[in-house]
Amino acid sequence: MDYFELECAVEEWAKDKGIFEKATPMAQALKTLEETTELCTAINSDDRAEIKDAMGDIMVTLIIQAKMQKLSLEECLESAYHVIAKRKGKMINGQFVKEESLPEGLRAGDGVPDDYRMD
Ligand SMILES: [Mg+2]
Repeated sequence: MDYFELECAVEEWAKDKGIFEKATPMAQALKTLEETTELCTAINSDDRAEIKDAMGDIMVTLIIQAKMQKLSLEECLESAYHVIAKRKGKMINGQFVKEESLPEGLRAGDGVPDDYRMD
């Protein structure tokens, strides 16, 4: 199956299980949070199988949420990409921090390296 077929299959599965009838967007968002916590746990224990499982589960929860919100994940991703494509920032403690969220003194032109550790 290609990605689109998989997304449709997940939507069909959710429909068959009555998820669209009974679940609420907030309950669904909490499922995404639960699966994201499982991803953090899997990363923390360096468990490749669990990382794969958690990432797939996160995608399932997001596909269902998108359908509930009458959006497609593709349009959400496209919209996010257009925003981040122009974004400036720095790597701090292993995480990209957008320029407007950087602490004063760490912005572009402040002579701080692009990969900075703040301990
Ligand atoms: Mg899971």
